[in-house]
Amino acid sequence: MRSVPPRALGSAIVIFAAASIVVAAAQRGAPSRANDGAPAAPVTSALRLGALPGVASVLAPAPPNDVPAAVAPAEAPDVPARCAPEPAIEVRVSEPPPAAELFRLAKEKPEALGSASLGSPTRGSLFGGVELKDSEGILRAGGYGWGTELVIRSIERAVREVRRCFPGSPSLYVGDIARERGGWLKPHRSHQSGLDADIGYYYKTQATWYQRATAQNLDAARTWALVRSLIEGGNVEMIFIDVSVQRLLQAHVASLPEGERPAEDVFPSPTKRDTLIRHAWGHATHFHVRFRDPAAVALGHRLADIVPRLRGARRAPR
Ligand SMILES: [Zn+2]
Repeated sequence: MRSVPPRALGSAIVIFAAASIVVAAAQRGAPSRANDGAPAAPVTSALRLGALPGVASVLAPAPPNDVPAAVAPAEAPDVPARCAPEPAIEVRVSEPPPAAELFRLAKEKPEALGSASLGSPTRGSLFGGVELKDSEGILRAGGYGWGTELVIRSIERAVREVRRCFPGSPSLYVGDIARERGGWLKPHRSHQSGLDADIGYYYKTQATWYQRATAQNLDAARTWALVRSLIEGGNVEMIFIDVSVQRLLQAHVASLPEGERPAEDVFPSPTKRDTLIRHAWGHATHFHVRFRDPAAVALGHRLADIVPRLRGARRAPR
């Protein structure tokens, strides 16, 4: 596993929300000190959980009223709450119909099928792709911006998170993704099946495309927030970042409170190379994300013979 499963994040958020509600309720019941300027005494987790109906007897039997609490309230940790992640995106996935019906739909009503990624990123094509448009926070750097729907929504989601968590963010440039029908896209080796995207870094100066990122100009906080959001979205297979930029991001990560650092090794080290983030030459000016979209790939398998027929190709992509 390379990424935080969105479901786990969701559960964590739900648990956190439940605990917060309980804390709020406990504080309402306690003598009020919310308005005197002093911070309310932290509530221990036993109390939080113990206050939940139904779990009190299991987790934390309440002490008798005349016995003082054995555990002194701990100091409130001076850790700012992490900006909440964007909700995971949901892309409609429909069960593809039987072969005969599939051909008819692909020909007459392709939008009913959704996106399909055919072949491989280095020898493939795209069907039913979605185009990334200039929008709030995103500037296309020219080239071709078609990808599977999941890929496009994943990019938009991560940019949305950065803009919400870092108000005043400049726009982010996004370069090539794929052609509308995928296939060879000069000068790339991959970018053929709608699963690869070239994404710019955030800079301290202004939004710019294809500028070498350095310690002087890289906005490491925003760039890390973007990369982290992509990873936490759960749809990323690999991210290629030049090792010089990785070091700048790692230095930023090391400066974060412990709870905000990634739980797993996402950067490569001498002992671990098969990490989510990897070095590849040519990625100091932008980074390359290889997305994972199993539904689009599965549909691509089903359409492997159909799409070339529809497009009049002589040979099916492998
Ligand atoms: Zn690329």
